Amino acid sequence: KVRVRFAPSPTGSLHIGGARTALFNLLFARHNGGKFILRIEDTDTERSTEESARQIVRSLRWLGLDWDEGPEKGGEYGPYFQSQRLELYRKEVQRLLDEGKAYYCYCTPEELAERREAALKAGKAPRYEGCCRELTEEQKKKFEAEGRKPTVRIKVPQEGQTVVDDLIRGQVVFENSVLDDFIIFKSNGIPTYNFACVVDDNAMEITHIIRAEEHLSNTPKQIQVYKALGYDIPKFAHVPMILAPDRSKLSKRHGATSVEEFRDQGYLAEAIVNYLTLLGWSPEGNEEIFDLEKAIKEFSLERVNKTAAIYDVKKLTWINGHYLRELDLDHITKQLIPFLVKKDIITEEEVGQKYEYIKQVTAISRDRSRTLDELADAIAFFFKDVTEYEEKGIRKHFEKEHAAELLVKGAEALEKLEEFTHDSTEKAFRDLTDSMGLKAAELIHPTRLAISGRTVGPGLFEIIILLGKEETARRMRKAAE
Ligand code: GLU
Repeated sequence: KVRVRFAPSPTGSLHIGGARTALFNLLFARHNGGKFILRIEDTDTERSTEESARQIVRSLRWLGLDWDEGPEKGGEYGPYFQSQRLELYRKEVQRLLDEGKAYYCYCTPEELAERREAALKAGKAPRYEGCCRELTEEQKKKFEAEGRKPTVRIKVPQEGQTVVDDLIRGQVVFENSVLDDFIIFKSNGIPTYNFACVVDDNAMEITHIIRAEEHLSNTPKQIQVYKALGYDIPKFAHVPMILAPDRSKLSKRHGATSVEEFRDQGYLAEAIVNYLTLLGWSPEGNEEIFDLEKAIKEFSLERVNKTAAIYDVKKLTWINGHYLRELDLDHITKQLIPFLVKKDIITEEEVGQKYEYIKQVTAISRDRSRTLDELADAIAFFFKDVTEYEEKGIRKHFEKEHAAELLVKGAEALEKLEEFTHDSTEKAFRDLTDSMGLKAAELIHPTRLAISGRTVGPGLFEIIILLGKEETARRMRKAAE
């Protein structure tokens, strides 16, 4: 039975790299009828925060990447916060100490730093030389008496190789001579990542470890821990990096990187998930629209690329436009509302009473925007008076002969209408221009500018009937002044 996990360290917000790792784990679990587990790796007490853990959980939920076991869900293998599992790590480290597979190291950080320096000066790769491997009881007592707090190191064989059989990269061979007896427990009684992770992956019966490529160099170390503890070794799959368009490491200067930043910029969860699906994985055909359901059906680790994926915000934006047009109208309307409130286009209190109106406006406007943020700006005029007109529109449509006169006459014609519909308003406009021997466009363009401030947008008569008779006429007269 497949069991996979996403194991973030809560030291910041969830970034798109982490979100993609979570997604690939979820896709693999669902495709194989297995379980997807969320585990919070919060043993680094200095860098971990509860707020960050909450934010990660929130981002995953918002993306719709739902886990089967973990925070807020529970499960048979809990707790799912490493900080609540210390007893288990202590029990396992004691076992290694008792079996002589690990030992106390009394070297101080200063001593280690000194030796590191010396090695670097001598042109050698710094590594722990095993000074405390064979301490006598007497020596240990002496160190303890000096008040030194020991760490625990694992004994790593110095000969041979450690082979990582990676489902994406194939066999990756590490010489054991480059490994050293690394620390598995710190002097403060907290396990290191490479130890806690292995103990948990075993205890939680994880079958496949799908994680970022940056962890590949940890894998031979972890394999040593598996062997020492006598655990079965799971399968590994290291997912290639995500790079910026210039092939540098993705960072702040490339724009948004965290899931919440993308959300705040007006990207939809569905679009981000679709985009991340294709970031490093390629389907058999060349389709670009992959919702979660379809991705689950087709996902396989074999089709994860071996080379780095290049992040491309243009493609994400294009995909976002697609979902903005295609998803359920109520769903989009609800996603849009916070943007309208944030921009003071409507108030929180108005939301309930204006909901149907917002929805109708969204229906006629959404296929022209690529993000919720853009959409909110584009529809502001439905809620607020027009105070500015597009510069080039003024020259083209207002400064023409007849323009002002037409706007006033057009307003009058609308006011006379009993029935105010798409057809009746359109007919009123056409009758008016016909009677003056003008083209309908000569009224339509200035009217659009007068009532929306813009030269492009949804169909004019659709706008007019949503704005209503009075408001449309008022804006037309005002523009004619
Ligand atoms: N806590 C590690 C991280 O966030 C997890 C790595 C792993 O999946 O083993 O990078």
